[in-house]
Formats: sequence, C-alpha cells, structure tokens
Amino acid sequence: MPILPSYSCSGGEQSVFRETKLLMGTVVEIAVVGQSGERSRDAIREALEEIARVDELVSTFKQGSVVSRLNREGAIGKVSVGKEVFFLIRAAAAISEASGGAFDITVGPIVKLWGFESGGARPSEVILGKVLPLVGYRNLNYDENSYAVGFKTSGMQIDLGAMAAGWAADLAIEKLKARGITAAIVDAGGELRVIGSKPGGIPWRIGVQDPRSPGELLMTFDLGDTAVATSGDYERFFMDGGVRYHHILDPATGMPARGCRSVTVLAPTAAEADACSTAAFVLGPERGIAFLRSRPGVRGFIVDEDGDLHWTDEALERMARR
Ligand code: AMP
Ligand code: MG
Repeated sequence: MPILPSYSCSGGEQSVFRETKLLMGTVVEIAVVGQSGERSRDAIREALEEIARVDELVSTFKQGSVVSRLNREGAIGKVSVGKEVFFLIRAAAAISEASGGAFDITVGPIVKLWGFESGGARPSEVILGKVLPLVGYRNLNYDENSYAVGFKTSGMQIDLGAMAAGWAADLAIEKLKARGITAAIVDAGGELRVIGSKPGGIPWRIGVQDPRSPGELLMTFDLGDTAVATSGDYERFFMDGGVRYHHILDPATGMPARGCRSVTVLAPTAAEADACSTAAFVLGPERGIAFLRSRPGVRGFIVDEDGDLHWTDEALERMARR
C-alpha cells in the first residue's frame, strides 16, 4: 500500500471506527468518525459493499463484470455498459487526450502480455510488436444515448486498473456522506479520499511510502478534504538482469515507463488523483510535473529514477513532514 493512514482513536464524545477488508485485489481500509458505533459500522459496511459493487463492474478478473463483457464483445458491436461506467470511460479518455496518450485504458492487451498479476515475464519483441497496435483510446466508439462503448479494432481490451480504486474510494465516500458521515477516510489500496477531520479537529495524517524501502515512510501530510493517489514502480514488478520491470506501461512502446520511482498526486477526487498519478508516471519527471500543474486543483510530487524530488508547488513541499 503506497499510503498508510495513521489514526488517533477517540476524542471528546466522538470516536474513530475502522474496518479493513480485502477487495479489488487490495487492502481497503475505512475509518469513520462518529458518536454511535452501530451507525458508524453500518455506514462502513455500506461503503465496503459499494466498493465490492464497483469491483463487480470493472474487474478484468471477473468474467461477469461489465468490463469483461465489453472486452469480449466490444469489437462485434457496441456494448451497453451503464451510465456510471460509460462516464468513467469518457473521463479516462479525456485524461488520455490531456496527457498526449500517456494514460490509456486500452492498454489491456499489453497488461495481459506482461502478466504482472501472476509474477510477470518479459514478452518477446515480436509478440509485443503484434499486440501494441491494439492500444489506442481513439479506437473506442461511444453511443451516449444507450451508454454503450465499442472497439474499432478486434482484439482491443480496456483495463481500468489505473483509476478504478480511486473511483471506488470516491463512491464509498458518497455512501458515507449519504449516511450523514462528515469525517472519514477511505483508503483503497493507497488511493484514498479524506473528508473532515479526526475527533477534536485534528487533521487526518497520511504517509507516503519510500519507493526503495516501501516499509518506511518518505513523508507524511496532514490533510483536509482531498484525495491522494500514488503510482509506484515498487508495487508490482520483477527484476531481470538488474533491470526493474514494473506494471506502469508506456502505451507508445509497451514497455514499463522510465524516469520515475513514484508519483503522488492530490486532487479533488480520488479517481482523478489515481488517473493523474499513472499519467504523470508515464510522462516522466519534467513532463509529468507540467501535466499535473496544467490541471485545476491538482498537485503532487515525483520521486525520479535517481531518488530526487520534483514538486508542482512550494506550498505542497512545505506541507510535507519528513
Ligand atoms: P496505478 O497503480 O494506479 O498507476 O495503475 C497501474 C495499473 O494501470 C496497471 O496495473 C495496469 O492495469 C494499468 N496501466 C498500466 N499502464 C497504464 C497506462 N499507461 N494508462 C492506463 N492504465 C495503465
Ligand atoms: Mg493510478
């Protein structure tokens, strides 16, 4: 988990209630501030159910998910994916446009080829060369009236792994808000969203992992209402001949993106933070920072391949505690 929240337990009449569950192939942790344990735990349960629902929609590992159906049938004709997945895919395509194609959810075929989920192995150049032309967000077709998406090319596959956890955190926060919760943190495997503060007005504190010793924290931040996501080359990788091959792929080459060890992004929503951290990682330190700066309400920092830090703004750098 790139980001580990630390919690105080209680203050005044309010307490922090927390639960952890394995969902979406990662550790999901929800903490809620409330007076009533029963109401807080009910709200957490509902938020966890919401994350499980998102997984049922977007997982590429579940054959019955909407995304799996799209990947099977999208080249035959447009597939109705429902309003929320439709607009998630449209939002992803907008970030593809804004990042010059660095972020691209049609990386599905090369993600499968590398197989990081099951350890990973270098694909042959011949096979990579055959699969790479299948990648291209511009080859997605849309029908806004029926919320349907299709593929212009047979063999295309979408993979929402770069923003699904963030999106799930946002939807979980909406569930908590609907239950009257005003202070909470939802951490979906390091992509997280924060509202309110801990009891006594103490801000939530989140830690960012050191990409070269992930058990240790590089720095911490005290946060108000915001979302944070980290993309790192230490999350899913293998070493071969002293070279690190990791799961964040450059759609232009089909190879792991070079130049960064990790990218941490703060944004108004976790879906945006999640997508932007992946996009900036692929763009590399200089273009990545320029990309983050170009987006309203988005800020962050990059640990480059030498371990040097690059910041979008000095105010954020001053907020970091090391
Ligand atoms: P994250 O950890 O949020 O940066 O997301 C990484 C995951 O997103 C990978 O495991 C892939 O499933 C997918 N992915 C890899 N490269 C890209 C890319 N360039 N654009 C969009 N998704 C990607
Ligand atoms: Mg991401």
